[in-house]
Amino acid sequence: MRISYSAYDTFNRCPLQYKFSYIEQIERPEKPELFFGSLIHKTVQFALKKDPILPKEQELMDFLKIKWQPEIFSSKNESQQYFEFGKEMIRKFYADWQPGLRNIVATEKYFQVPLSSKHILSGLIDRIDKLPYGAFEIIDYKTNKALPTQLEIDTDKQLAIYNLAVQSLWPEAQDVRLTLYFLKHNLKITTKRQPYEIEQIKTEVINIADKIENEKEFAPKANKFCDWCDFRHLCPLQEGKVENREQNDDINKIIEEYIEAQQKIKDLEPQIHQHFDLEKIEEFSNKEITITRDKDKKIIIKN
Ligand code: SF4
Repeated sequence: MRISYSAYDTFNRCPLQYKFSYIEQIERPEKPELFFGSLIHKTVQFALKKDPILPKEQELMDFLKIKWQPEIFSSKNESQQYFEFGKEMIRKFYADWQPGLRNIVATEKYFQVPLSSKHILSGLIDRIDKLPYGAFEIIDYKTNKALPTQLEIDTDKQLAIYNLAVQSLWPEAQDVRLTLYFLKHNLKITTKRQPYEIEQIKTEVINIADKIENEKEFAPKANKFCDWCDFRHLCPLQEGKVENREQNDDINKIIEEYIEAQQKIKDLEPQIHQHFDLEKIEEFSNKEITITRDKDKKIIIKN
């Protein structure tokens, strides 16, 4: 079978989630943070593909703007905040980037390499550079806000899988550097893997691929990521906690209206704050209503 790091990781975490994602391929709603991460990656790739030519910074900003989809976000305000956050990341990336200096051998490199006589490992690597002294550097762009620790990076299995793939594609690559490039922080953190660690991950992935092939049950396995699982409404472990959205039209309508109302509040609140700040007031009244804000800038409505 063909297996990626993400499939391996999903099955390890929860076989049922694997079944929903990879076998039944149930469609999931687009999430703002996933859309955002993917578009920032595309913008960086757009720049890297021009290397050794240095495009104008404005070209990257225009690329980001054209591809932006505000409807994915829960409100105009959220979309705007993400957009500004993205522009800042691209600005930092651009300021640090010196095209032509590095020997980039591949960007968005899709790989399929044999793991055993039965299994193939597949995936996508953001960027691979060849360094002057013969080493290879794998660079994985990250849009995380939080920085992982060095220990977490030193034990990251996805990086070990990338290492395995690169050594399979370029057998002369004995010295492989693994770099995570955190765009928000403009920080690169590098790690390496020993040959025994590569063998270890290879064995683990083969074992999981064998398990998947023989799996009949695909039982749910509760884990710390359940709260973010897209299939909670289908999961027997969540019964009673999550209602199947297909089954109750009334509550669906109420929830839709509630979400719309929340979005409207998110869009309007900054305008109220702006008015209060401009007029240097903390209370506003008309015939029907008085609005104030407390010391934490929370808006309070008094009838
Ligand atoms: S909610 Fe948790 S246990 Fe249920 S399918 Fe998702 S990850 Fe698995």
